[in-house]
Amino acid sequence: MRVTRHGPSLIQLTRFPLLFPVNCYLVREDDGFTLIDTGLAGSAKATLAAAIAEGGTIRRIALTHAHGDHAGSLDTLHAAVPGAEVLVSDRDARFLRGDHGLDPDEPRAKPRGSFPTRATRPTRALLPGDRVGSLQVVAAPGHTPGQVAFFDPRDGTLIAGDAFQTRGGVAVCGVLRPRFPFPAIATWHLPTALGSARALRALDPTRLAVGHGDVLDQPLAAMDRAIAEARRRVESGGRRRDA
Ligand SMILES: [Zn+2]
Repeated sequence: MRVTRHGPSLIQLTRFPLLFPVNCYLVREDDGFTLIDTGLAGSAKATLAAAIAEGGTIRRIALTHAHGDHAGSLDTLHAAVPGAEVLVSDRDARFLRGDHGLDPDEPRAKPRGSFPTRATRPTRALLPGDRVGSLQVVAAPGHTPGQVAFFDPRDGTLIAGDAFQTRGGVAVCGVLRPRFPFPAIATWHLPTALGSARALRALDPTRLAVGHGDVLDQPLAAMDRAIAEARRRVESGGRRRDA
């Protein structure tokens, strides 16, 4: 597990940094850490060890979305720190229970990617506008129907889940990057993702932390370019320019 620190509050934990980087984040709070995402199955031990090495206890486990590379170690982490709050968006919590159905008002696109069923139930269902420690919960649907991002107003850090990727080139999820195509392949609905990307950009983040790829400081210009590309893709009817 690669550990990188960004400012006083953010610690990035990366499994498989060379081949298939999957990030989780420890966010420092006065009472310990909020863990954002749990990584692939098998990540719990290294995640717990990293929290201890950084000098804190995991008080809250929050998910950006229910894909298997973000919710994979939820059950084992919850078993290891049973007193921690478990925070999942109300919408994506349904995938963890095995319900893959769509709401009547959602786009008729099939959710893509792996959605493992997990036994752990959220102690609190997150809604946009909620707080998790210092973090503000921001709606970021598109990659999945109920993805959320977390914005830290203390320093402008945005933990965006898979709403953006930075590995293989900065992109809005759903816009394929041949050198790391997986977030695009697993994206539910690009037009919805584009709307979320714009909303996240409007927060004027000073730091972009994503599920796949390095943390990006001063990300606004790169986000703008990625959003413009996604807009062109949506306007051309979603045709992919894969070459
Ligand atoms: Zn994902």
